[in-house]
Amino acid sequence: MARLVMKFGGTSVANIERIRNVARHVKREVEAGYEVAVVVSAMSGKTNELVAWCKESSALYDPREYDAVVASGEQVTSGLLAITLQSMGLKARSWQGWQIPISTDEAHGSARIQEIDGTALNAGFAAGEVAVIAGFQGMHLPTGRITTLGRGGSDTSAVAVAAAIGAERCDIYTDVDGVYTTDPRVVPKAKRLDRIAFEEMLEMASLGAKVLQVRSVELAMVHQVRTFVRSSFEDPDAPHMGTVESAGTLICDEEEIVANQMEARVVTGIAFSKDEAQVSIRRVEDKPGVAAAVFVPLADAHINVDMIVQNVSADGRTTDITFTVPTADYERAKDVLNKARDTITFETIEGATDVTKVSVIGIGMRSHAGVAADAFKALAAKGINIRAITTSEIKISILIDAAYTELAVRTLHSLYGLDK
Ligand code: ADP
Ligand code: ASP
Ligand code: MG
Repeated sequence: MARLVMKFGGTSVANIERIRNVARHVKREVEAGYEVAVVVSAMSGKTNELVAWCKESSALYDPREYDAVVASGEQVTSGLLAITLQSMGLKARSWQGWQIPISTDEAHGSARIQEIDGTALNAGFAAGEVAVIAGFQGMHLPTGRITTLGRGGSDTSAVAVAAAIGAERCDIYTDVDGVYTTDPRVVPKAKRLDRIAFEEMLEMASLGAKVLQVRSVELAMVHQVRTFVRSSFEDPDAPHMGTVESAGTLICDEEEIVANQMEARVVTGIAFSKDEAQVSIRRVEDKPGVAAAVFVPLADAHINVDMIVQNVSADGRTTDITFTVPTADYERAKDVLNKARDTITFETIEGATDVTKVSVIGIGMRSHAGVAADAFKALAAKGINIRAITTSEIKISILIDAAYTELAVRTLHSLYGLDK
């Protein structure tokens, strides 16, 4: 029998009424003949509450106990959905990460899945049972401790389960009916994409579009899992819900997109992230080895550096280096550099946390010149100053003042014809 993974996010399981609605979606697919594994998130707001309780208990909490606490949100919803499915006459049971088991590494709070043993799940399918799996959680087998996969991690649980059980598709049900050209909450004119390439989705997700966890897209790409983003808020029994193509966004190979498109698009979407901070080191001594002296200590402190701009020095002696780090690491980054003053000579460290990185993404950019120049011109016309720029084959990222985020995103969205 064909298998299907259905994942439901926080707003989709926010209360018992919503869980009943989820159960109807599941029932539809069971009746269509699928063996179904459902992956659920915690009720919306629950994980935030649990995280806040950990922080309130102690600023320096034990990450193993943090995982024990935050994994509980998904335990509740998996049990509640199993009860609801049973009440609708379906066979169902809940599975915690450790019961399957979903084995992960020991990086508590952001663990990576290493393996999923499908044996127990297969036995359940053979008995005609729907598997209701708690997302977001796994277990580090050698220590026997519960782990969690990082915020938004249920997406990753779902794709990993789909790969492990050989599911025909992984449906990610959320509060929007697909992946849009940009966050529809910010740009009402954003359009739903029928298809998006794995690589583009990977960029969108890692550059700020939180509709899917980055790791889930990586896994989908590596294991070739057909991943479909769709809404749980539509009527579960609407006729088009069973016919996939009309109801959401398929994340798939580039070839499939090219084959389904009349005219190649240059830009697919715009993403943005406010989780960036800018650090500028002024009048750094300009000599070989200075970049290493700055960035090695940051790497040693596990601080992820993203955009880097180094000026060519005018006097041949000093220069400025600007880079970005996640907002959460901003103070630590400055601290690390100040402590490295015996190996780096500089005048001051300046910085800003009220900045946003806006990114333009599209595989079509590979074969089109002038995409970046157009963006710079359009932003200049709106009086938006650019602090830093990075580019790759399929994306351009621009750092600007946070106050201009919405204006910049809307401007770029219409510039590339995404409003139409
Ligand atoms: P869930 O709780 O179901 O996992 P999330 O809140 O994690 O849902 O993800 C869905 C949200 O992602 C949407 O409500 C939307 O605001 C946001 N989002 C950001 N960028 C995009 C985009 N390009 N397309 C669709 N949704 C996006
Ligand atoms: N509940 C977890 C979170 O909010 C995981 C998820 O929803 O994907 O981050
Ligand atoms: Mg999510």
